[in-house]
Amino acid sequence: MPDKNVSAIVIGGGPAGLTAAIALAAGIETVLVGKRPAAADNRTTALLAGSVSALAALGVWERCADNAAPLRVMRIVDDTGRLWRAPEVKFEAQEIGLEAFGHNIENRHLIAALEQRARGLSNLRIVEDEVLSVAPGERAAPVALKSGESLTAQLIVGAGGRHSLCREAAGIGIDEQEYPQVALTVCLKHSRPHRDTSTEFHTPSGPFTLVPLPGNRSSLVWVLDPADADALAALDDSELAGEIERASHSILGKIEVEPGRGQFPLTRANARRFAANRIALVGEAAHVIPPIGAQGLNLGLRDAATIGELAVAARRSGRDIGGINVLVAYDRLRRADIGSRTVAVDLLNRTLLTDFLPVQGARGLGLYLIDRIGPLRRMLMREGVAPKSSQPKLMRGEAI
Ligand SMILES: Cc1cc2nc3c(=O)[nH]c(=O)nc-3n(C[C@H](O)[C@H](O)[C@H](O)COP(=O)(O)OP(=O)(O)OC[C@H]3O[C@@H](n4cnc5c(N)ncnc54)[C@H](O)[C@@H]3O)c2cc1C
Repeated sequence: MPDKNVSAIVIGGGPAGLTAAIALAAGIETVLVGKRPAAADNRTTALLAGSVSALAALGVWERCADNAAPLRVMRIVDDTGRLWRAPEVKFEAQEIGLEAFGHNIENRHLIAALEQRARGLSNLRIVEDEVLSVAPGERAAPVALKSGESLTAQLIVGAGGRHSLCREAAGIGIDEQEYPQVALTVCLKHSRPHRDTSTEFHTPSGPFTLVPLPGNRSSLVWVLDPADADALAALDDSELAGEIERASHSILGKIEVEPGRGQFPLTRANARRFAANRIALVGEAAHVIPPIGAQGLNLGLRDAATIGELAVAARRSGRDIGGINVLVAYDRLRRADIGSRTVAVDLLNRTLLTDFLPVQGARGLGLYLIDRIGPLRRMLMREGVAPKSSQPKLMRGEAI
């Protein structure tokens, strides 16, 4: 059977792949091939303001906004009990003229909205299947599916998550590192209101972060030593609720644990290039960072917006959408953003884990200065919400 020719193929139907496919379909005939994930995703995502603008511009946000809670205040509380303890730092969105830094949403609602939007686009076909191989050539890249179907495209977007086969197919290496930590995730009901405030307790094993959901509900990401995570995961709901209430110093009152816990070993992985040989990597296929400071998928959505913008512009001016110019520009545009977030999250995590007093002192001093110096605090908040190095059109709320 001859290969079917299409313009672009996105491999992977997670949030980054779906967003890339919707963005590409603004001007390019696209096929998204995605296999169902092995387990339901019970996590939530804190989407920063630029990501929310992009999803609104893509016609996705209106389908899930009611399920999201605004993040108006972010608190960092030093709960290390160490000699050099940092002051509490509070970031308020209104201080930089925003109503909210972003919104927190359960991944199942976000993915459902993305899928609904994707299925309504005439330029986008969704194939529920697994890609077995990609063999990029000079003019096009053939893709073999498990069903036996073969497709060929000029541009492949690799969005298969951390074990993506596209990285290897593109001949791109990866730098990986494991941390001695596991993130325990669960959603909670609580008796006191969160007041649209996310609170991050910094503990010696990592952050314990409560992020608001609509109503008196929040999501928890609790970064722990792996043995402690196993012990907590083995508790029944009421015992776990008691431990969470204790660790949160009862700021949300009485806690009730909802069904659906998750455990995620903390890793960092960075592709050495983000595009080569007709393949552009987006989302966790390109970068995995620990869930600290809500950066992972926000980076993934900026990847998706950037490749969408570059490829559609190439098509409109009659250029090759998977050619060297598009891929080099993509790699260049994503480098500073991904690199700077990876380094910042890694540093923050390491300064929590270290027993080395001068480093603990430096961390405390850094947070003290952020608390005291308004312009520094505002600069950090602006950079956190909308990085200067990466402002694709969609993140500014403009159509591609
Ligand atoms: C505990 C935790 C909390 C987090 N919180 C936040 C947060 O608040 N904010 C934030 O920005 N980020 C957060 N992140 C990061 C975020 O969850 C990830 O960045 C995001 O889920 C990655 O999405 P993705 O689409 O790249 O990959 P995935 O969600 O892994 O999707 C990949 C998809 O590709 C499919 N696939 C793989 N191989 C193939 C193949 N060969 N053929 C077809 N399909 C294939 C898979 O089945 C899967 O559906 C968090 C991460 C963790 C672990």
